[in-house]
Amino acid sequence: MSGNSVQLQGKIVITGALQALTGLRIGGAGAGMEIGGLDNVVIRDPVTGRPYVPGSSLKGKMRSLLTRALGKPLKTLVEPRGNIPAIRIHWCETEAEYRSGGRPCPLCRAFGVAGQRALEPVRLIVRDARLLEELEILDENGQPARKRWSEVNTDLPYTEVKWEAAIDVLTAAANPRQMERVPAGARFEVEMLFSVYDADDREAFRTVLLGMRLLEDDYLGGSGSRGYGRVAFRDLQVRWKPVAHYLDPQGHPAVPLTEGRTVEEVIARFDELAARIPAFEGKQG
Ligand SMILES: [Zn+2]
Repeated sequence: MSGNSVQLQGKIVITGALQALTGLRIGGAGAGMEIGGLDNVVIRDPVTGRPYVPGSSLKGKMRSLLTRALGKPLKTLVEPRGNIPAIRIHWCETEAEYRSGGRPCPLCRAFGVAGQRALEPVRLIVRDARLLEELEILDENGQPARKRWSEVNTDLPYTEVKWEAAIDVLTAAANPRQMERVPAGARFEVEMLFSVYDADDREAFRTVLLGMRLLEDDYLGGSGSRGYGRVAFRDLQVRWKPVAHYLDPQGHPAVPLTEGRTVEEVIARFDELAARIPAFEGKQG
């Protein structure tokens, strides 16, 4: 396990759709805690006006779920201020901590470390996920059906607005507020790229798939305790692009590794797909 070798061997590309199974609220402005405010808005692309899922939101949520799933020690990234809670995640501070298990910490290897010092190149890039033209809704018979946005009615372009009563725990007063959310059935185009350098990246890549799976049994965005933000990955494709592919795409085409309707299906074939990445076996190319 060459500690200092940082020669890129290639990239694993995961593409697919992220589907909202319940309403999704990824806020544009801060934490938006104002009661009765209209600033519970959904983040939108400034050019197209369409909601999107920032890659940083997706990556941050997966990281936080993995921190707990892998039992990693937490550190305070942001101190608490007023009624905004502290942000606590895991990252390895030193080289010794990073390699304390005999192998590099798969979480920090995939997701990077907070702070100034990069221990190694960060493996995972998560692109912003743009809204797809079709939604998937259930028809009268409960069967999934595709519809275009132009065929459905929404309160605002691409979103619905719900009135909700927020109860003030001190005064027990109910303060109605408006929540904007992307409706269930919306689909976003997902792309994740994972750079492979050496054999230890096998475990780091497996960690990314685990993070995707954990996200499906948690929530994305705000108001998860109200049932918002349940999401699922769908129609996944995993491809391997050896470094030679970038120089000579015809001579070295991308290698399809697997297709799966769900993350679970991809994870079930992990050994099979990993065996097709030479760098995971410590080989070049
Ligand atoms: Zn770590």
